[in-house]
Amino acid sequence: MKNITILGSTGSIGVSTLEVVSAHPDRFRVVALTAGNNLEMLRQQIETFRPQMVSVLSEKLAVELERSLPGYKPEIHHGVEGLIAAATAGDAHMVVAAIVGAAGLVPTAAAIRAGKDVALANKETLVTAGRLIMDLVRDKNVRLYPVDSEHSAVFQSMEGQSRKDVLRIILTASGGPFLNLPLDQLSRVSIDDALNHPNWSMGRKITIDSATMMNKGLEVIEARWLFDTPAERIDVNIHPQSIIHSMVEYVDGCVMAQLGVPDMKAPIAYALTYPERVPTGVNPLDLTALSGLTFFKPDYRRFPALKLAYDALAAGESMPAVMNAANEVAVEAFLSGVIGFIDIAATIARTMDAHEAHALSTIEEALITDRWAREKARELVGLVRR
Ligand code: NAD
Ligand code: MG
Repeated sequence: MKNITILGSTGSIGVSTLEVVSAHPDRFRVVALTAGNNLEMLRQQIETFRPQMVSVLSEKLAVELERSLPGYKPEIHHGVEGLIAAATAGDAHMVVAAIVGAAGLVPTAAAIRAGKDVALANKETLVTAGRLIMDLVRDKNVRLYPVDSEHSAVFQSMEGQSRKDVLRIILTASGGPFLNLPLDQLSRVSIDDALNHPNWSMGRKITIDSATMMNKGLEVIEARWLFDTPAERIDVNIHPQSIIHSMVEYVDGCVMAQLGVPDMKAPIAYALTYPERVPTGVNPLDLTALSGLTFFKPDYRRFPALKLAYDALAAGESMPAVMNAANEVAVEAFLSGVIGFIDIAATIARTMDAHEAHALSTIEEALITDRWAREKARELVGLVRR
């Protein structure tokens, strides 16, 4: 029996994780769950999975939850302290980090410090503090399993291979909803257009990140840390069908790939049950039913955010944290109708321009950098009036 905690259980990854858990009640027990403000869904999850502990965003929500639970009542916590309590709770073997954004950094670091293995969906944690997190993983001798489909594919394509033989990691990208839109129309796309992803159903923030391709940028940085591979050896190929989830090229010219129907339950299950495989209910792949698999290079004029991620890695140190925080602010501003689609990358670029990269030696320093960049980006999108 594996005891697991899910941070962000009411999100897209959280819900898919609980589907995998439900399908294998003999394998998993849920120790703790955390949610933002979706009390309705959390109530149902408490009823079904009976966690020892839950945490929600605020004290007000915690009180409301406590009052409204008809039967079984877990320990109820709130705020960042609550997230840390859940991430480190009792006898969990593994913590699924599925909060969106840099808000996942503190609880994920706490889980590692407490000696928990981590199934990582929350890529922003590695973008904000990759070196520090990987040092912590080594110090605490825990395992960090990728949940992101591309990184799961790379992980699977490296199984049984020697890292020294890896020539290149090739991350695939769908290209999102605007892959073929005439460039001069990008400035006029609507929020709904941007939320309409062709292949994957995901939370709102990552869906916008996929439209700008900042998601792939974040994933390049995530891969840099997870697989200890420099940016020069991480390529991005646009592959609109999202069937090959990523590839690894070796020195002998052989390329290993992992394929499947796009469904996050497959990489989630692999992270939860590694090195075993279990049925997930993911639809079988029928290659003969596809009209073809295509690949091409991304165009930075269409996807400037991807270039910004390579720039941030080249600048190194604190710059990826700045890029990530500026992106979070810009995406929120876009989703609130405050800025246009192409302003997202422009805001990130200007925030990065205003920053001089410096070393980050603690998580606290990463958080200070993250806060600085948010303030700068808010100033740039006009959300903060001075
Ligand atoms: P989502 O928005 O659907 O869910 C986010 C979860 O985090 C929710 O439970 C929400 O309540 C909680 N949350 C949000 N802000 C919080 C805060 N400040 N404090 C505490 N909890 C908070 O997001 P998602 O699509 O499930 O993505 C989660 C993470 O997984 C992201 O980092 C994303 O990049 C990554 N990821 C997602 C997918 C996908 O298919 N959805 C694929 C790969 C990677
Ligand atoms: Mg991905």
